[in-house]
Amino acid sequence: MGAWWIARLGLAVALVAIVGVAALPIIPPNPVPASALQDTFSAERAMEELRLVARAPHPAGSAQQARVREYILARAKTLGLPAETQRRRGVKSSAWGGWSGTVENVIVRVSGTRSSTPDVLITAHYDSVPVGPGAGDDGVSVAAMLETMRVLEAGPPLKNDVVFLFTDGEEMGWLGAKAFAEQHPEMGNIGVAFVFEGWPSSGPTEMRATSPGDAWLVRQLSIAAPPVWANSNYNTDERLYHGSDFGVLTASGLLSAEFENSGSATRHHRPGDTVESINPSIVQDHGDTMLTLARYFGKLDLGRAHSSSEDLVFFTLPGFGLVAYPTWFATGLSVVAVVLLVAIIVAARRQGHLSLAHLAWGTLAFFAVVLVSVAIAAGIWELLLATHPGAEVLSYPDFEGSGLAMAAIYASAGAAFIAVTHTISRRIGAVELAAGALLWWAVVALAVGLFAPLASALAIWPLLGGTVALAVVSFLQRPWAAALLALAAVPSFVLFVPLLVLNALQTRGWCGRARGAPLAGYRHIGSAAHAHHRTASSRGKGLNSTCRPSEAKPAHLTARRNQLKTPMHGPTVLPSAGSSRRR
Ligand SMILES: [Zn+2]
Repeated sequence: MGAWWIARLGLAVALVAIVGVAALPIIPPNPVPASALQDTFSAERAMEELRLVARAPHPAGSAQQARVREYILARAKTLGLPAETQRRRGVKSSAWGGWSGTVENVIVRVSGTRSSTPDVLITAHYDSVPVGPGAGDDGVSVAAMLETMRVLEAGPPLKNDVVFLFTDGEEMGWLGAKAFAEQHPEMGNIGVAFVFEGWPSSGPTEMRATSPGDAWLVRQLSIAAPPVWANSNYNTDERLYHGSDFGVLTASGLLSAEFENSGSATRHHRPGDTVESINPSIVQDHGDTMLTLARYFGKLDLGRAHSSSEDLVFFTLPGFGLVAYPTWFATGLSVVAVVLLVAIIVAARRQGHLSLAHLAWGTLAFFAVVLVSVAIAAGIWELLLATHPGAEVLSYPDFEGSGLAMAAIYASAGAAFIAVTHTISRRIGAVELAAGALLWWAVVALAVGLFAPLASALAIWPLLGGTVALAVVSFLQRPWAAALLALAAVPSFVLFVPLLVLNALQTRGWCGRARGAPLAGYRHIGSAAHAHHRTASSRGKGLNSTCRPSEAKPAHLTARRNQLKTPMHGPTVLPSAGSSRRR
C-alpha cells in the first residue's frame, strides 16, 4: 500500500474519531444508582421522586397538583428545610385569549453559613398540562430539584443560601413566575437564577439562553463547568420575550440562565409524557448540572454578580468546557479569517497552484452544487410524502426506524454532494473548488461577525479550519499533510455535529398545524401551551420564530380582564378573543 493510500485511510479514520469526540458533550451521563453516597446526585433516587410527582396529570388548580405540592412540602419537612407557599391570583392575557386563577408557588431554602449574602435561585415549574402527567415537562426538573435539595442538605453547608422555587401555572401563562417576580420579597435577595425545563424521552441538557449582559455570568459558568452543551447562537434578541418562566424572570432583571433538554415532540404536552418514557440519564444530566451550579455559585461571592452592557460569544469545546470571548474579538476574528483566506488564495495564485479563471468557475460551481443538493434532497422528500403521506412521521425521532430512514436520506444527499463535487473538481481543480466554496463561507462569516457576533463562532472557526485546509492542499501535497487536514476539520465538526444531532432529536414539524387549530376550551390550553413551548425551543434552535405567540395586549382584552369577577380557585380558560384562530 502506498503512502497516499495510508494517508487517505488515516484521514477517514481521524474524521470518524473527530465526529465521535464532537458528539461527547451531547451524550447524557449514566444514571447513578441509589446505593451511591448520600452527597452524590443519584438518578435512581430522583426517579422515585418522579414516579410520585408525575403519577397523574397535575395542572394548576387541580387536586392532583395539590397532592404534588403537599409532597414537595413534606420532602422539605423531612429534610428539615424551611419551606413556604406563595399564593396569589393571577391573570395572563394575550391577543388570542388567556387564563386567570390562583397560583401557589412553593419555596424551599437550603441555608448557607452567611445570611447577608445574595442567594442562588434554582427554579422549575411543578404544574403539568391538563392532558398529560408531565413526567418530562417538567417532572424531570422537579425530581432533580428534590434530589439536589437532599444532596445539599447531606453535605457541608455552602456560603450562600440556595433557594428552590417550584413555580405554579407555567403552562398557563407563567402565572407563578410572574407572581414571584412581582410580589415576593425574595426577588431582592437573588444574586443569580437558574431555570430548568424538561422534555420527555432522552435528549441531553443544554444551556438554552442567558440573560442579556451575561459577561460576568458566562465567565463564571466557564469556570463552574456544568456538564451541558452550549452555544451563544441561541442568545438572540428573542430571549427576553420568549414564553417561559425564564423569560419572565429575565425580563424582571434577574441575572439568569436557562437549561433544557431536547426531547420527544410526539409525547410533549400529551398523555404520552409518562415516567415510563423518561430515560433516567436525562434526570442525571439535569441533576449533575443543578448540583454543579448550586455548589459553585453557593460558594461564590455573589455580591459581585452583575449584568453588564456586554454579551459574550461562547461555545462548548469537548474535553475543555465553555470557550468564551467578547463580541469585539469575534468581529475582529472574522476580519482576520477573511484576510487570511484571501492571502492564501493570492499566494497560491502566485505560485501557480490556482488559476483565477478556474476560481471563478469554482465559486459558481459550488453555489450550483449546493442548490442542486438541496433541491434533490427536498425533491426526494416531497416525492416520498406524495406516494406515502404517512412518511411524515419519519421526521419524528421517536418512531421506530425513523432514525435509520432519516440517516439513509441524509447519507444519500451527502453522497450525491460528494460525487458531484468530486466530478467537478476533476474539471476545474480541487484547489479552486475548495477556494470557491470558502469564498461563500467568508461572506457569511464576515456578515455574522459584523452583525450577529453571538452566532459567529459557527461561521468563523470553520472558515479558519477551511483556510488551513486550503493552504495544505495548495502548498503541502505530501501524504503526511493529511494529519493537518484532519486538524483543519476539527472546528466544523465540533460546532456542527452536536447542533445537527440536537436538531434531529427535536423536530419542529407541527408548528403550522398548531397555528391552524381552533383555540377554544380544553384545546385552547393545549394549543397555547404548545405554542409557548415550541417558541422556546424554536428560539433555542435559532431557526424560526413564526410560532411565537403574540404578546400584544389590545384594549378590548384589558376590558375583558376587568369583567372577570367570579373568584375561583385554579386557573380557568378565558374565551379567546375575536377570531378563534391565533394569528
Ligand atoms: Zn414546561
